[in-house]
Amino acid sequence: MIKDIIFTPDQIGNVPSVKEELAKRLGSSEFTIEKSFIDARHKNDIKVVYRVSKGEERSDDTAAALPHLGKRFNISKRPVIVGFGPAGMFCGLVLARYGLNPIIIEKGRPVEERTKDVSFYKEKGVIDPSSNIQFGEGGAGTFSDGKLYTGVSSGLKGFIGQVMVRYGAPEDILYDSHPHVGTDNLVNVVKGIRKEIISLGGEIRFSEELVRIVPGHDGSSVSEVITDKGSYLTDTLILAIGNSSRDLIRNNASFLKVESKPFAVGVRIEHLRSDIDKAMYGFDTADYKNICAANYKLAVDTCSGKKLYTFCMCPGGEVVPSASFEKAVVTNGMSYRARNNDNSNSALLVPFDPKEVSDDPLAGITFQDMLETKAYTLAGSDSTAPFMTYGDLKAGKSGTSYSSVVPTYKPGVTACDLRELLPEVFVETLKDGISLMGRKIRGFDSENAVLTAVETRSSSPVRIPRNRDTFESVACKGIFPIGEGAGYAGGIMSSAIDGIKCGNLIAESMLL
Ligand SMILES: Cc1cc2nc3c(=O)[nH]c(=O)nc-3n(C[C@H](O)[C@H](O)[C@H](O)COP(=O)(O)OP(=O)(O)OC[C@H]3O[C@@H](n4cnc5c(N)ncnc54)[C@H](O)[C@@H]3O)c2cc1C
Repeated sequence: MIKDIIFTPDQIGNVPSVKEELAKRLGSSEFTIEKSFIDARHKNDIKVVYRVSKGEERSDDTAAALPHLGKRFNISKRPVIVGFGPAGMFCGLVLARYGLNPIIIEKGRPVEERTKDVSFYKEKGVIDPSSNIQFGEGGAGTFSDGKLYTGVSSGLKGFIGQVMVRYGAPEDILYDSHPHVGTDNLVNVVKGIRKEIISLGGEIRFSEELVRIVPGHDGSSVSEVITDKGSYLTDTLILAIGNSSRDLIRNNASFLKVESKPFAVGVRIEHLRSDIDKAMYGFDTADYKNICAANYKLAVDTCSGKKLYTFCMCPGGEVVPSASFEKAVVTNGMSYRARNNDNSNSALLVPFDPKEVSDDPLAGITFQDMLETKAYTLAGSDSTAPFMTYGDLKAGKSGTSYSSVVPTYKPGVTACDLRELLPEVFVETLKDGISLMGRKIRGFDSENAVLTAVETRSSSPVRIPRNRDTFESVACKGIFPIGEGAGYAGGIMSSAIDGIKCGNLIAESMLL
């Protein structure tokens, strides 16, 4: 039996244990929370809703994710996975659980060392090109908000959530309508998955970079991969390289028949968390320990016919330096589990289709490169990021200073004129779009809102074509391009789903 238990923020916001409160209402501690959400349709009547089923255990989703679990395979050549982000991790976990002993090559460092590399970049402005917010154990998702919501519908979400909870993610990600893990927990989740893969016979080779794919005699199948440390004979290569592996894509673009695809470019916008909370809920969530900072999702069409939308919103989070090479500035957002920092941020993006400007399949990468290096020089070539307030942008002024909203980007920001960085159509779309968004969320168009540039890596500018059913590259037998970088996912959950599906397809093909 499913039942909605409804609380006001005052009734549930500061109780020591939500579960105990639910048990009191139900008169029993035998229940499962199926879903929780905040109904904020009426600001003067906010409801915190827990949908519970009585006496039922949450089902274990492992069987759905690994349909042939228990079968073990004899293989001569071990599958090689390149990239240990969500796609590579979950593909690796599936292959390891099938007993297929994958070899995983990851150019970045283990998460313990990577954490120090990321801190060093934030403090000193010196990036390690192989260990940063994009590259290293756990991939781009490790130092993130750890939002797990996705538009992709899949029965595999439950399994992914259960794996994460097993390795340290909070249990509420299994039922919250907007689940988020937080960077502090993601680090442990990543370590847990690594240990399981190794315990099952998989190998993870950190600080090793794939540099060349060697085709077999027929020229259309893979036979070997060359890294900067050695080589591996394999007929099964899973490319889970994420959306920032530009050298690898450039060097293999014609071999893999890489295509350009639409993506989006823009800035990060920051507001005071308390202002966003009050606009969304009518109160400051800092007053309630059990109510998470408010999130939003907005999309508008400006009068010039361009779209502007928010992406990867990080309530109570910070803007982080997300470049992966020297002399570049890239923004993105992250937050800790508590989501209780002073600002809330999100990407503000304008869609861009490279095909409109060039036939070159790599035109999108060239555009990203250009913006990222220009952002670096515009801000003074010291790794600070260029920023301006919305007030200055609207008034057509060069960037001056900030006031109530203090930019969170480290290693710091420099006031600039973003019109010198972004093409005019992007600037106009930002100006008009933010104003329209202000009609949807009070204060979104505040003159004090801070815009920090440049947000270029929200999705991949290329796709590596693959067969719809087998996930095998159309250009080369034995290569399986997966996850965000290959153009088949757009976030942690969808990349992990793609990785699991690929792992299953490979296991099935080996079973035949
Ligand atoms: C700061 C930040 C915050 C984010 N927040 C969220 C969020 O809250 N929710 C969400 O859903 N998404 C978020 N994202 C996006 C999300 O992280 C990505 O969609 C996801 O990580 C993509 O997974 P992936 O496995 O396809 O690729 P990646 O995670 O990018 O992993 C690819 C891996 O491949 C490795 N690699 C690349 N080239 C080579 C090579 N030649 N040899 C060896 N290894 C190589 C890289 O080092 C990297 O570890 C965020 C991204 C960033 C940067």
